[in-house]
Amino acid sequence: MGVHPNIGVAQQGDIPVGRGILVNDFLETQVPDVYAVGDCAEIEVVDGRNRIEPLWYTGKMQGEALAKTIAGERTKYERGVWFNSAKFFDIEYQTYGFVFNEPLDGISSFYWQHPAQDICLRINYKDDTQEVTGVNTFGIRMRHNVWENWLANGCTLKYVLENLRDANFDPEFFNRYEKDIVAAFNQQHPDNQLKLSPLRWLTKRFTKGHANA
Ligand SMILES: Cc1cc2nc3c(=O)[nH]c(=O)nc-3n(C[C@H](O)[C@H](O)[C@H](O)COP(=O)(O)OP(=O)(O)OC[C@H]3O[C@@H](n4cnc5c(N)ncnc54)[C@H](O)[C@@H]3O)c2cc1C
Repeated sequence: MGVHPNIGVAQQGDIPVGRGILVNDFLETQVPDVYAVGDCAEIEVVDGRNRIEPLWYTGKMQGEALAKTIAGERTKYERGVWFNSAKFFDIEYQTYGFVFNEPLDGISSFYWQHPAQDICLRINYKDDTQEVTGVNTFGIRMRHNVWENWLANGCTLKYVLENLRDANFDPEFFNRYEKDIVAAFNQQHPDNQLKLSPLRWLTKRFTKGHANA
């Protein structure tokens, strides 16, 4: 409840708390039939630091997992690929997977920036396999489910760039930058020319075999 968990209710009811209301991976408190989800929940981690996940999409996923549990199908909460987004007036920022502020060993980065506007994209990928590991976008809105599948399935940078149109989630009539982005990659990599694919419906694109083809 809020950025700082409001745990007063739990404290009144003898429900164990830390910074938030303590729960396990099933979002269960130590009191039978009492659960916590969202900003107020502190997920206990056996070998690491407990997690509070104050984000709307993790709150939604926690709610979905808990709804199944309450309906009789005890379900573990699994966050999946890291995602966050923010919107301030007309500026849109998104991140999927991991893009650290310092480059990590074995990870390379492809970066594109619009020549005149505050619009850019960074995709990190593994040097050896070329699998993408994370993306940041500024001024371009991406589709959550497409990036989640690309990251979870180990899609290569080549595949992602060639199919970048599938990931665009900007409203109709917004400018699209996939052509410019692929052209920038081709200019930087004269020996590895990519060809942008036309937009196709998404369902065919999510298997690893197809992704790395
Ligand atoms: C300024 C701001 C910007 C944010 N931007 C982003 C963003 O860009 N991306 C993102 O993913 N997340 C963002 N968040 C976080 C996101 O809003 C929260 O993670 C999400 O709202 C948490 O949902 P929740 O239901 O757990 O808690 P809340 O949305 O806080 O809802 C809790 C509700 O419980 C009610 N309540 C509290 N105590 C009691 C009580 N005793 N009895 C009954 N009701 C009670 C409260 O009034 C409230 O309505 C932002 C948050 C803030 C404050």
